[in-house]
Amino acid sequence: MPDKIADVIVVGAGNAAFCAALAAQEQGAEVLMLEAAPEAESGGNSRFTAGAFRVVYDGVEDIQTLVPDLAAAEVETTDFGAYTEAQFYDDMARLTQHRADPDLVELLVTRSFATLNWMRGKGVRLIPIYGRQAFKVGGKFKFWGGLTVEAVGGGPGLLAMLTQAAAKRGAAIRYRTRALDLLYDGNRVEGVRVRHDGAVHELRAPCVVLACGGFEANAEWRTRYLGPGWDLAKVRGSRYNTGAGIRMALAIGAAPCGNWSGCHAVQWEMNAPEFGDLAVGDQFQKHSYPFGILVNAAGARFVNEGADFRNYTYAKYGRAVLEQPGQFAWQIFDRKVKHLLRDEYRIKQVTKVAANSIEEFAHKLDGVDAAAFLDTVKAWNAAVRTDIAFDPNVKDGRCTQGLAINKSNWANPIDTAPFEAYAVTCGITFTFGGLRIGGNAQVLDTDHQPIHGLYAAGELVGGLFYFNYPGGTGLMSGAVFGKIAGAAAAQAAVAVKPS
Ligand SMILES: Cc1cc2nc3c(=O)[nH]c(=O)nc-3n(C[C@H](O)[C@H](O)[C@H](O)COP(=O)(O)OP(=O)(O)OC[C@H]3O[C@@H](n4cnc5c(N)ncnc54)[C@H](O)[C@@H]3O)c2cc1C
Repeated sequence: MPDKIADVIVVGAGNAAFCAALAAQEQGAEVLMLEAAPEAESGGNSRFTAGAFRVVYDGVEDIQTLVPDLAAAEVETTDFGAYTEAQFYDDMARLTQHRADPDLVELLVTRSFATLNWMRGKGVRLIPIYGRQAFKVGGKFKFWGGLTVEAVGGGPGLLAMLTQAAAKRGAAIRYRTRALDLLYDGNRVEGVRVRHDGAVHELRAPCVVLACGGFEANAEWRTRYLGPGWDLAKVRGSRYNTGAGIRMALAIGAAPCGNWSGCHAVQWEMNAPEFGDLAVGDQFQKHSYPFGILVNAAGARFVNEGADFRNYTYAKYGRAVLEQPGQFAWQIFDRKVKHLLRDEYRIKQVTKVAANSIEEFAHKLDGVDAAAFLDTVKAWNAAVRTDIAFDPNVKDGRCTQGLAINKSNWANPIDTAPFEAYAVTCGITFTFGGLRIGGNAQVLDTDHQPIHGLYAAGELVGGLFYFNYPGGTGLMSGAVFGKIAGAAAAQAAVAVKPS
């Protein structure tokens, strides 16, 4: 190929892109990464994460493989349990209402441990997620919800380690370089047209991996595909994920796939900025709602806050908040559960009220019908099954009875001052619809035939998530499919090299 700039061009510089780059390098390919953002804002949504990975493990020995410096005291005082392939399959099937593509799910589940261990080998250090994913009960931490390890330093740490790993092995990263279109001769992709510093260039390579995110930061596409009201959602992460990779691929005949009207969206600080703020990271999220109640402007509850562990409900409850009048809700807690609130409740950028009497509290909840709220709390307190023991580490079955919307677990009367409330709106994380890929992460066209030279990984792959999502799967799927895409692209690039 004349003027070839690299064997593999990777579009994006988030988790999926770096895994693709590292896998391609392993095959001996020369890799060029293109990042639309300046270096200071680079790393996509991956940099905003906690760095938590959903990974199959069979017990503490597997955790020790991923976290070789786990202290003996930690092993002794922790019940890590296990997260089996069967559990991961079950979570994917149950949460997506059996719509997730079984071939993609199989790759995700069966390759999760090996892929994370491979990342560890490249220099990504991991630790157990004490605090957020395990509470200490009876002197012992117990992990729950299939989410047990995170990158050291969270998302920023993950990106720093991945960047170092790729750079050390010779990958070049061009920042402030936005991919505009794919170079395509009607048969194979031959590179990317980019804009850098106001000039347009053609960068040629035999294979391109698209890893440049979904369309969550594009208000017009959100409204078009997710529906009315989604223009009003806050974007939790990067402002650069505007669907460019999806658009470029569709323009050369790629097949759209998956839940285009669906997305991952959570409860997010009501007064958060339009896009994510790297200084705050994921801390605008408010994920301790399973231990309280949620009320809307009418003073009414509208979801079962304790339907499951938060890992299995948080990604769909953002939509529930968006659907409320004024697109907001208040999360309500009393003193009994305050110690269980995650660290994100203690940042200074929160919209919070507190009071020592429930009447005073009711009148402080901005935008809420106070009388209706007091009725809700009265009915709530009478409905809690206090005869069942409360245990935050298991689905304790401590429910309510007789309410229009009952709570299934972790119900507590709201009766102990001080009372606290946090205002939330909807924060979108990423979109579920994207491109159709085959088993080697090659992008398929509308006839379901591979588009030569084009691969995809990460958020812009469709077919994995529908309606809901098990926490920690985004990074894991980006890693699994990034690794597959990078290796396959490198092998194909070598195959088209002139002999
Ligand atoms: C606040 C927050 C917390 C989260 N926490 C977790 C968690 O703990 N665990 C988990 O598994 N998931 C989490 N997620 C979801 C997770 O971030 C994503 O699923 C995952 O990071 C997606 O990785 P990616 O590589 O596909 O995309 P990204 O990391 O978003 O990378 C996309 C890259 O493409 C670049 N780009 C976009 N357009 C172009 C273009 N035209 N040209 C060049 N470059 C372009 C972007 O700048 C970026 O570098 C969280 C998300 C957010 C927002």
